[in-house]
Amino acid sequence: MARRVLVAGGALAALALATAGLAALRTHEPFGAPSAPGPSEWVGVVHVHTVSSDGGGTLDDVAAAAREAELDFVVVTDHDVWAERRWQYREGALLIIGEEARVPGGHLLIIAGEDPRGRAAKWPQRAHADVARPDPAIAAGDALRVVAHPQGPARPWLIWDVRHFDGVEIWNWDTDWRDDSLWDWMRALPLLPFEPTAALAKLVDRPDSSLARWDALLREAPIAGICSVDAHARVALTENRFLPFPAYRHLFQLARQHVFLDRDPTGDPDHDGDLVVEALRRGRGYCGFDGIADARGLSVEVESGGEVAGLGQRVVWTDGATLRVALPAIGQPTTLTLFRDGVPVHETSEPTLEIELSGPGVYRIEAVVRPESLSRSLPWIIANPVFVDAPGV
Ligand SMILES: [Zn+2]
Ligand SMILES: [Zn+2]
Repeated sequence: MARRVLVAGGALAALALATAGLAALRTHEPFGAPSAPGPSEWVGVVHVHTVSSDGGGTLDDVAAAAREAELDFVVVTDHDVWAERRWQYREGALLIIGEEARVPGGHLLIIAGEDPRGRAAKWPQRAHADVARPDPAIAAGDALRVVAHPQGPARPWLIWDVRHFDGVEIWNWDTDWRDDSLWDWMRALPLLPFEPTAALAKLVDRPDSSLARWDALLREAPIAGICSVDAHARVALTENRFLPFPAYRHLFQLARQHVFLDRDPTGDPDHDGDLVVEALRRGRGYCGFDGIADARGLSVEVESGGEVAGLGQRVVWTDGATLRVALPAIGQPTTLTLFRDGVPVHETSEPTLEIELSGPGVYRIEAVVRPESLSRSLPWIIANPVFVDAPGV
């Protein structure tokens, strides 16, 4: 709490500096130009709190911020409660309502399903005893279950041997910023009044421990990787006073989940929401730090034996396989890294890659941007894998 107060105090100090006319502190240059998204690529954010739990804004505030950030969808997950009964389009963005349930293992996002609250209630109270006999209501449920802030300083996930989840948060803003030093914040704060999203982007770090955990999980089963803003738009100044910081719209521009819809949306919120949830569940997409550079338009595919698989899809190894990647064009230096079963096997500074794979495995890519105005690289894209299966498996 003390640190949040300190950070908020720093934010206020930065705003005061701005009004004093110290615009010379502005050092940011735009990181990249936008590129057009494909027709089936939707961009949204996952894990948003409202006043229904410990968030600072209403659903209307969330919808307005989503419109400003040009989001296609927002997944709202208040603590142990639905912010709204129905999924709906508001201000042009699809609001998908789930919840963040407190369960014995930690915090679990539960999205969709006929009765998420009922499912959460059935979560085994003695989880380790459940390994041999999973509760069928949860094991076979149709809700999307995502482990929240698995490596967070508060409420990390504790029961990895119980596999009652479909995905994990591979990045979580609320975890990321807590790791940052006061020095990190002091470097970002001068930019905050002028370009808040760019200031927040300077605080983004590669989530090493979450990615290591995800890679370990992926060696055993397809688990979707999702980046979450965990947006509260609320920071405590004192016991009873709060600042709406960071604003929804700034976090909504910073880190987004890009999904590929395998069927066309119709405008019906339930239908379209199901498409998004299914894409999230199957890992049909990637985490894009759009506040660092517009990540729309990523293309990753593996071709083997005449079959082609994209993100979250499978292809059978047939006497070889070719992986092709095309990063979105941003006009900034990038580094693209290919991982096989969690191990980096290739790296290039080219925006495209075509490579013969060396065998079956779980292949995923990451890309970083090296802005000239910064001394370090920033995470830009973390994609879900393409699975290359051994023949006969
Ligand atoms: Zn949580
Ligand atoms: Zn949360």
